[in-house]
Amino acid sequence: MSSRVALVTGASRGIGRAAALHLADDGHRVAVNFVRAKDEAESVVDAIQASGGEAVAIGADVGTEAGVAELFGGVEESLGPVEILVNNAGVVRDNLLLRMTTEDWDDVLAVNLRSVFLCTKIALRAMIRARWGRVISITSVSGLSGNPGQANYAAAKAGIVGFTKSVSKEVGSRGITVNAVAPGFVETDMTDDIDEAGRELAKSRITLGRFGTPEEISAAVGYLASEQAAYVTGQVLVVDGGLGI
Ligand code: NAP
Repeated sequence: MSSRVALVTGASRGIGRAAALHLADDGHRVAVNFVRAKDEAESVVDAIQASGGEAVAIGADVGTEAGVAELFGGVEESLGPVEILVNNAGVVRDNLLLRMTTEDWDDVLAVNLRSVFLCTKIALRAMIRARWGRVISITSVSGLSGNPGQANYAAAKAGIVGFTKSVSKEVGSRGITVNAVAPGFVETDMTDDIDEAGRELAKSRITLGRFGTPEEISAAVGYLASEQAAYVTGQVLVVDGGLGI
């Protein structure tokens, strides 16, 4: 497998961390982005280096144009142009719509959707020149089915689906695939505050009867980034243990 330059946004923890480790394991050089958790991001880099891989941690807020410009400048300088982009960074600010503040709407849309637009737009320049590229964005089953209390998050995640399908049609002729992965419930900090009753209710709706692991999601990311997935584009790969929508 050829060694590519991969950028994973929000790779200090959870699914992004697992994706960074998986891509490094597949032989790629990995940029580990974070916004606050510098120590955690550096420990991901240390783990990759300890297994003989190459990685760098770069702090940047992917919800802002300046942050994304800085991030891509840093990756290009340290590893080279991005060939595999994993749009993973995400936040939740859950509330019923009537109680949702405009700030909670804007923050979630910026980190979960604006970032996908900003990062993909920059990454495509080099990918088009190279006539090879992989863009993989982490959406959610919330964006496919909706979820009470998540109007902002579900709107952002549904936006990723439309974005992915549209951009895949724009760049398919250049050897670039654009896909999304839609996890169900995954054991990370994001789902940490779901109480026991909520957890049991969720599990009762999941065919496999349990939450997924970050590694089970990163396996799907690894597949979409691989040469084996060269003929897969514009798709949303649902990895939800049979949650159903
Ligand atoms: P997580 O454990 O809360 O980690 C979130 C990551 O995003 C962290 O690395 C965080 O960096 C980073 N991040 C947040 N805001 C950022 C910003 N403005 N700029 C750059 N990075 C930022 O979340 P997770 O559960 O792994 O979720 C990863 C992705 O999967 C998200 O897009 C999420 O919506 C999606 N997803 C998760 C689940 C689930 O059940 N967990 C289900 C479906 C979809 P810091 O550590 O520096 O704060």
